[in-house]
Amino acid sequence: MDIKYYSTNQKAPAVDFFSAILTGQAPDKGLYMPDKFPKITKEDFAKMRDLEYFELAALILSKYLKEIPPKDLLEMCKSAYTFYPRLENVTENKFLMRLDTGPTASFKDFAAQIMSRLMQFAIKKGEKLRVLTATSGDTGSAIAHAFHNIKNIDVVILFPINEVSNKQRKQMTTLGGNIKAVAIKGKFDDAQAMVKEAFADKELKGLNLTSANSINIARLLPQSVYYFWAHAKLTKNIDDKIIFSVPSGNFGDLMGGVLAWKMGLPVEKFIIATNANNEVPRFFSNGTYEKIEPSIECISNAMNVGHPSNFVRLIDAFGGKMDEKGNINKAPRLEEMRKFFYAISVNDALTKETINNVYKKYKVLLEPHGAVAWYGLEKYLKEYPDDNKKLYVSFETADPAKFPEKIHKILNIEPETPRSLVGLDKLKEKYETIDANYASLYRLLKDNF
Ligand SMILES: *Cc1c(COP(=O)(O)O)cnc(C)c1O
Repeated sequence: MDIKYYSTNQKAPAVDFFSAILTGQAPDKGLYMPDKFPKITKEDFAKMRDLEYFELAALILSKYLKEIPPKDLLEMCKSAYTFYPRLENVTENKFLMRLDTGPTASFKDFAAQIMSRLMQFAIKKGEKLRVLTATSGDTGSAIAHAFHNIKNIDVVILFPINEVSNKQRKQMTTLGGNIKAVAIKGKFDDAQAMVKEAFADKELKGLNLTSANSINIARLLPQSVYYFWAHAKLTKNIDDKIIFSVPSGNFGDLMGGVLAWKMGLPVEKFIIATNANNEVPRFFSNGTYEKIEPSIECISNAMNVGHPSNFVRLIDAFGGKMDEKGNINKAPRLEEMRKFFYAISVNDALTKETINNVYKKYKVLLEPHGAVAWYGLEKYLKEYPDDNKKLYVSFETADPAKFPEKIHKILNIEPETPRSLVGLDKLKEKYETIDANYASLYRLLKDNF
């Protein structure tokens, strides 16, 4: 099957996978979507039950990446995935999927680790690629670690100076080499807008810029794999459906699930759990989309997004059209969406209460992002008690040890530091700080490359 990637704005030509990942965003500022969804067969599902995570990743990705010889793809997955998601049973039919087991202890490692390898494979001999990325914390650290010392690729990471935790910042600013960390005096949304402007700037064409944000389709495809993993490990029968609860900011994680479902994964429902940035839950309730500007600062800081870039893909997947500014030019099938998604906004007070309750009740330690999802699941079950017999998987997207100050304040305990974070505090940081406007970013790029 020959899959092409079209732009959600439909004013740019469809391209192949490598072009899509090397440009990140389509020239018309739309995002790339696959024009077909390869189907996962019954045999594939049966086989999955016995696969290791890297083998499962190779199986799923091979359906899209005919350009890469299967042996090479398997090797890439093997070197990328030295870790796998941990499924933790909380009550008999409710599971937590801990996606915080990678080198930077956030779920973003699952995409970043394979993405750097795919990009390295895709660049032509003699060419250089510059990865430019805005981060609210975890993307930057995952990308920095995935691309560190990768030949012929330079990385520039923009982060909002006051919105990332100390640990998150240190994970980006202590590597050096081909990784350049830049603080901006503004918010994540400013950083994201600056980066998008750079991609659309014709004067920067020669720099070969691409994005490692979840606007890049190379981020999304790998994020469908762990949904299959949960299904393979937890269901009794291949047709059994799961209800997933996904803590959402830019909606890349959720879109991974939607792609998995389009490929045939049996999903009963997705619970979309946001923090106080509730533009998407509001869209589900009243059908109008209004960005939140500026975005609201919450303790689940990686989800402080007032205008999620991947929402255009979700709209697209349900037959609608939305441009990059958030204007809906064609309404999606809203009723169908309402049946399939349960969207809820969870404020900081409820997030903290959930961390507290879950720890007391189950001895399970959540951090703010995972707590938003868990609350979403509990709220859903209060509203739909009949569903109580089904199978639930709620995502924990970061290790609690990434937020020791917050956890200490709520529970008065010190989360255990995973190996990947040990020694971080002693490393020397290096970054520069710029104003939150495009001119500053333009100058920085011109000066450096
Ligand atoms: C990025 C991130 C999220 C949100 O994921 P999206 O794909 O942007 O919706 C949630 N939790 C953590 C810990 C993250 O780093």
